[in-house]
Amino acid sequence: MSSISASSLAGSLLRQEVLDLHAYHVPDSSGCIKLDAMENPYLLPPVLRDEIAEAVAAAAINRYPDPGAASLKEKIRGLTGLPQGMDVLLGNGSDELIQLLAMAVNKPGATLLSVEPSFVMYRMIATFTGMRYVGVPLATGSGAENFSLDLPATLAAIEREQPALVFLAYPNNPTGNLFSADAVAQLIEAAPGLVVVDEAYYAFASDSFIPRLARYPNLLVMRTFSKLGMAGLRLGFLAGSTAWLEQLEKLRLPYNVGVLPQLVAEKLLGHHEVLQQQAEQIKQDRDKLYRQLGEIAAVRVYPSEANFLLFRIANATAVFDGLKQRGVLIKNLNGGHPMLKDCLRVTVGTPDQNMKFIAALQETLTQLA
Ligand code: PMP
Repeated sequence: MSSISASSLAGSLLRQEVLDLHAYHVPDSSGCIKLDAMENPYLLPPVLRDEIAEAVAAAAINRYPDPGAASLKEKIRGLTGLPQGMDVLLGNGSDELIQLLAMAVNKPGATLLSVEPSFVMYRMIATFTGMRYVGVPLATGSGAENFSLDLPATLAAIEREQPALVFLAYPNNPTGNLFSADAVAQLIEAAPGLVVVDEAYYAFASDSFIPRLARYPNLLVMRTFSKLGMAGLRLGFLAGSTAWLEQLEKLRLPYNVGVLPQLVAEKLLGHHEVLQQQAEQIKQDRDKLYRQLGEIAAVRVYPSEANFLLFRIANATAVFDGLKQRGVLIKNLNGGHPMLKDCLRVTVGTPDQNMKFIAALQETLTQLA
């Protein structure tokens, strides 16, 4: 055994799907204004920070966490306004829940269907759990139909592929738009399997499928607290009928949400109004940033109901590099999906950060002209 190198052993032992994957890339952001990952840019008020520090100091981190996270779940149920008969299942971020769902339905030949471009982890998790993946392109066009659901094509794909699992991000990442609720409802009705409406950006959006949960036996709604100011805690949840959640619960690793995330999230949700005020501010600043980007002739910016904006600009990669040189890190989507050619995505920051981003963008454009 000692004569074989670790890399050749890995090459022969690992599944081809794993060898072919690229790890989810997180760029170095040190020293940058960080507008690449849809984080909430605000810290907590000092009083709340002190309260959390005190609670953390007294936390029993020598013990395993409450495996059922009973008290945190109670808080989430209360805040989410779940319909009768519905419950929540907690995940270490919603990424973990996507993986759990894929593992649960992955019979031989089972298919995961989503639309494209959308959140890349749907495809990635399908691949590494060994599921078939089908991505249906979103509609293209010059106006509001851009990046909307292509309803006939998606219905046809559902009919043809009979997916066990469908993911629809509502609002969608990286495009930012909220699909038509009526179109989503038609897809849920047509789907033979589970449909997960992924509401990662619910705090910035004008609609939700939570109130419609009781209408469809094959619907689950997934949310994360990452965009609401808790990205560092890693906490997401699935909401749906207990019949589904009891089964999925069997796949949840026993202590997937640690003592500190449980405790801090519960404290923060106890001050939900602070986080909601921050989300309100971010929404206002998003709309302002949308107008400012729209005024730049070289930019085509897309409407957003999330905490980020997608925009198209010639020489996107050069613009991205110019921004980075000026200390502003956003997300370069150019070179990924063909529909995202020359697209960049900027997360809404504080008013000061947004101003610096616009100034850096204008400088970059002058330099490239
Ligand atoms: N769903 C969507 C649509 C997202 O954009 C993201 C984060 N980028 C996630 C899920 C995952 O969020 P988390 O794992 O932080 O809960």
